[in-house]
Amino acid sequence: MDVQNIRKDFPILSQKIYGHDLVYLDNAATTQKPQCVLDSIMKFYTQYNSNIHRGVHYLSEKATEIYEAARLKVKDFINAKSRTEIVFTKGSTEAINMLAYSFGEAYVQTGDEIIVSEMEHHSNIVPWQLMCGRKGAKLKVLPFNDKGELLTAELGKIITPKTKLICVTYVSNTLGTINPVQGIIYQAHLHGIPVLVDAAQAIQHVKIDVQKLDCDFLALSGHKIYAETGIGVLYAKEDYLDKMPPYQGGGDMIKNVSFDGSTWAELPLKFEAGTSNFVGAGSLHAALDYVETIGLSNIAEYEKQLLDYASQKISSIDGITIYGNASKKASIISFNINGAHHYDVGMVLDKLGIAVRTGTHCTEPIMKHYSITGTVRASFAMYNTFEEIDVLVEGIKKAKKMLVN
Ligand code: PMP
Repeated sequence: MDVQNIRKDFPILSQKIYGHDLVYLDNAATTQKPQCVLDSIMKFYTQYNSNIHRGVHYLSEKATEIYEAARLKVKDFINAKSRTEIVFTKGSTEAINMLAYSFGEAYVQTGDEIIVSEMEHHSNIVPWQLMCGRKGAKLKVLPFNDKGELLTAELGKIITPKTKLICVTYVSNTLGTINPVQGIIYQAHLHGIPVLVDAAQAIQHVKIDVQKLDCDFLALSGHKIYAETGIGVLYAKEDYLDKMPPYQGGGDMIKNVSFDGSTWAELPLKFEAGTSNFVGAGSLHAALDYVETIGLSNIAEYEKQLLDYASQKISSIDGITIYGNASKKASIISFNINGAHHYDVGMVLDKLGIAVRTGTHCTEPIMKHYSITGTVRASFAMYNTFEEIDVLVEGIKKAKKMLVN
């Protein structure tokens, strides 16, 4: 990988922050955008802008073509069987809320159970709590050990005849753990239970083949893989999409409307009410093309080198605790300087031009597991360098000197 060349594709990275070179290590929160993604947005608005699906005029047909080509791109990228299984959403959060509503209505009764893991993002907990509240169902939790690995052997004890769905993140946004989702899916299917994979933090690091995984549902966000914000995907096996009711009503999702009742559009439009983010979909297409030209396996290999380097360097500083030491990790590292508040550490690093995230990372149950109030999180993308990690390490040492007596 020619990282210096890749960096040239990302205009934002050449900025100075408080007089320092920007060191952007907040990629798990959102990734920066390459020029080709920015160009796709500009081109759409300067040449093709028009609403999709509803017009016979040239621009509307062109815009529809771009939107539907993006759907095909996503289908190929995750190897779905059919374009009808790709529902565009605002992001992973909306994908999971959509599923929680529609799956809940179709499949969940009073007394049923949903399993989530202890390391889920709030986006894969709260929608299920809301659904359980509506349907009188119960949420059960698959725990993890102190290394940050799911106790998958416990699954057999947690599953009951009432279990309707298992929801698990592929990669933890806080611990970096790459979970053994294929094994979890296999085990769940032995009991006839479908599985939702939250791929918000996986899509940019791990090659995903939904047919090989055999997951029933998968959620992803475009902005985590170099595309625009406000575009994401719910992948679902067609049989489920057929049987689930729509999440929202409005334009584009209907076949016919009368005051006696309405009928739904063909899949996947039944789940895409209102004006979709067609510009975002085009940007996702451009981002996935970009990732493919570099190669996801090259990216993953390089990011693993960055993670190993950072883990070794950061753990060799005295008085640091790293949270999440799973044997399989993506390029995310959460830590604290013992005796310093994560927020103060983030402030010191910021003044050095280093962007990291501090706090709970929308995973309060993980904080509870370790009895902490938050962590500092550095997360690496393909454009980060070993030199940037050196800058981070010096910054941590400086923060320690300033904050710990
Ligand atoms: N799941 C995980 C694991 C995440 O990291 C995130 C984003 N931080 C989400 C879900 C939600 O994604 P979005 O905010 O893009 O909807």
